[in-house]
Amino acid sequence: RAREAGTGQVEFYQAELGINARRQLELEEALRHAILRDELSIAVQSQFCGDGTVCSAEVLVRWLNGPEGKPVSPGEFIPVAEASGLIKPLTLLVLNQSLQALKQLEAANLSIPLSVNFSSALFHDAAFVDGVIELIGESQVDPGRLMIEITESLFLDTSDEVQESIDRLSFFGIKFSLDDFGTGYSNLAYLKKLHLSELKIDRRFVENLPGDEDNRTIVRSILSIARQLKLRVVAEGVEDVAQADFLAAHGCDLLQGFLLHKPEPAQSWLQGQITKKMKKV
Ligand code: C2E
Ligand code: MG
Ligand code: MG
Ligand code: MG
Repeated sequence: RAREAGTGQVEFYQAELGINARRQLELEEALRHAILRDELSIAVQSQFCGDGTVCSAEVLVRWLNGPEGKPVSPGEFIPVAEASGLIKPLTLLVLNQSLQALKQLEAANLSIPLSVNFSSALFHDAAFVDGVIELIGESQVDPGRLMIEITESLFLDTSDEVQESIDRLSFFGIKFSLDDFGTGYSNLAYLKKLHLSELKIDRRFVENLPGDEDNRTIVRSILSIARQLKLRVVAEGVEDVAQADFLAAHGCDLLQGFLLHKPEPAQSWLQGQITKKMKKV
């Protein structure tokens, strides 16, 4: 078929491939340097309880000064980090900054736990898990104030090493949240094996609530499963009041989304939380 289309077409595809491959390599090299120079930072997005208070928050990595001085979104550079092994130092960097934020919260007598995103591949590496436990131990932060967000791609892997990593982190006191729930390879039997504390309803099911009948049904089902398994539920991507009202009315524990709060650089988020607390006292 390529021949029929003429060589021009083939050359076009090759050029496209070449551009993509080059962009990947360029990103990988720049990311390697950014990690070495500690140039990645974290943003924090609050999660709200029914009474409107900030009950927890999610940490999101930021690369503000990428190639050509432009920011690169995690949607683009996380896959590059995963493919190149850079995901390990990247995650330790994010974890380290999160632990510092937890210490600053503790110093201000604020007990807001933080969630950090972990790629599935990390759970294959026992040495990486050692590193995580060591870092948390050194920080003297209570591991119970840290939640790890995993995704359903972890379900694809039923190997002993993955289960062992989860068991060890869980035994150490870290909690687990299942991110983007419903988009992947849901196998409800694994909900128990993963020692989960929390499910996060993916944004695509929150979209068009309460108008969309399918999404209404899916969200109600997730909330009902979670209730029976005694899991806390966070809705992601809450962008308007009608969505928030529907979710709250059906017993969703926590709401996260642009309606309530946009991810904010960690230091300014911390200042905001501390200021709010001082005003209350
Ligand atoms: P996620 O973990 O599902 O994070 C939620 C994403 O949704 C974030 O995008 C957040 O900014 C965005 N978001 C929050 N509220 C709303 C809303 O109301 N509407 C819309 N449209 N979006 C909302 P972000 O920061 O670009 O991160 C994208 C993804 O990159 C994350 O999805 C996560 O899978 C990954 N990621 C981010 N930080 C890390 C990290 O430190 N490690 C790893 N492994 N992955 C990360
Ligand atoms: Mg997440
Ligand atoms: Mg998510
Ligand atoms: Mg998501």
